[in-house]
Amino acid sequence: MIVVMRPGAPKEEIDGVCSLIRSQGLEAFVSEGQERVIIGVVGVDIERVAHIGTLPGVEQALRVTSPHKLASLEHSTERTRIKVGDATIGAGSPLVVMAGPCSVESREQLFATARWVRREGAHMLRGGAYKPRTSPYAFQGLGEPALKMLAEAREETGMPVVTELTDPGDVELFDKYVDIIQIGARNMHNFVLLRAAGQTRRPVLLKRGLAATIDEWLMAAEYVLSAGNSNVILCERGIRTFERATRNTLDLSAVPVLREMTHLPIVIDPSHGTGKRSLVGPMALAAAAVGADGLLIEVHPDPPHARSDGDQSLSFQEFGSLMDELRRLEYLRANGKKTTRPPEVPVGVGGIRERIDSIDEQLVQLIDERARLALAVQSAKGMDAHGHDVERERALVERAMASSSGVMDAEELQQILTAVVRASRAMQRRHAALQRQMVDLGGG
Ligand code: PEP
Ligand code: MN
Repeated sequence: MIVVMRPGAPKEEIDGVCSLIRSQGLEAFVSEGQERVIIGVVGVDIERVAHIGTLPGVEQALRVTSPHKLASLEHSTERTRIKVGDATIGAGSPLVVMAGPCSVESREQLFATARWVRREGAHMLRGGAYKPRTSPYAFQGLGEPALKMLAEAREETGMPVVTELTDPGDVELFDKYVDIIQIGARNMHNFVLLRAAGQTRRPVLLKRGLAATIDEWLMAAEYVLSAGNSNVILCERGIRTFERATRNTLDLSAVPVLREMTHLPIVIDPSHGTGKRSLVGPMALAAAAVGADGLLIEVHPDPPHARSDGDQSLSFQEFGSLMDELRRLEYLRANGKKTTRPPEVPVGVGGIRERIDSIDEQLVQLIDERARLALAVQSAKGMDAHGHDVERERALVERAMASSSGVMDAEELQQILTAVVRASRAMQRRHAALQRQMVDLGGG
């Protein structure tokens, strides 16, 4: 800490400041400038002189070290990487997607969602068992039976589960069933709960409070870290502002801001951050682009009939398309190689049109054949595999460019191929959903 004295502050005031510092077991280094005196404060527990700025003669007291002792980059310049089951989050690991319903409503709803999000490539399963709702009359969650269902869904799908802890008394129960303990936005300031979560061995996903500054959020993380649990994941879920077009204002700048302050992994929750289904995808992509370590996304088999947060829950199809987009985003970062071949020269208008007609006919047949083959690949892989291979998509574009005459540029070629691939993915997904429905109806 640096204490800046007022210009011309008398010796008694300077001595007063120094003796307070020394009386608290800290060291004071006095530096006399032409106009004013500056006192450097050195020691471990700087909090003891937190109010030094109010002493007579002091103009201002500036902290030079971060108050976030354990969360800050001063404590550890190495970014925290947390391994949960097969997934690793943080420190530059690939984006981790945690998806599932807002609340666990029934076995069928949870398992259908778990299987689907797994199929589409999600890494972890979310689902609330205890719901801290704004209204005491709203659905409060199924409690312990939901925890058991989550653990069973983990057994079947292999996805670790993340769910919210609302009562410090439930810590043992959570240790038994849960892989990541979520602390909800409404509980970010519940210090008893934070300490309890700090005493477990489970990683803690700490949501940002509805009206919390980044500084307060990191201080909440300090409660968990200082209680002995070093595995804290920060989750931005939108803050309350004057804006009413979205449920909350999703603060995506929190990602780069936190990167400069902390080594902890950062997850974005675009579901609660926007409150609106149509906005979840775009903000999820933006979060990935800005470098978030993970995403927390609400998905429901029948969003309009969800018992909580239906407006912001993605349908299965919407979640599938978003996962494809996220894979494509990574693909777009890679550089494609460009090779061209001399163009073929067309001859005579009539002849050209005839040739175009015949090509269109062949295209229709080829697209139909391609669709049938895409379905065959899907059934060979099993309907629970997402089957999306970005490398193959990329190779397709590269091959197309290599064999193209160069008459269409890379972007135009890509537009056509992307349309074919996207339609094919939508078709595969539609068939998988139908097949899944038939299996479920048949009791499988
Ligand atoms: C949730 O993730 O289901 C939830 C209740 O979130 P938040 O605490 O951010 O409102
Ligand atoms: Mn929710």
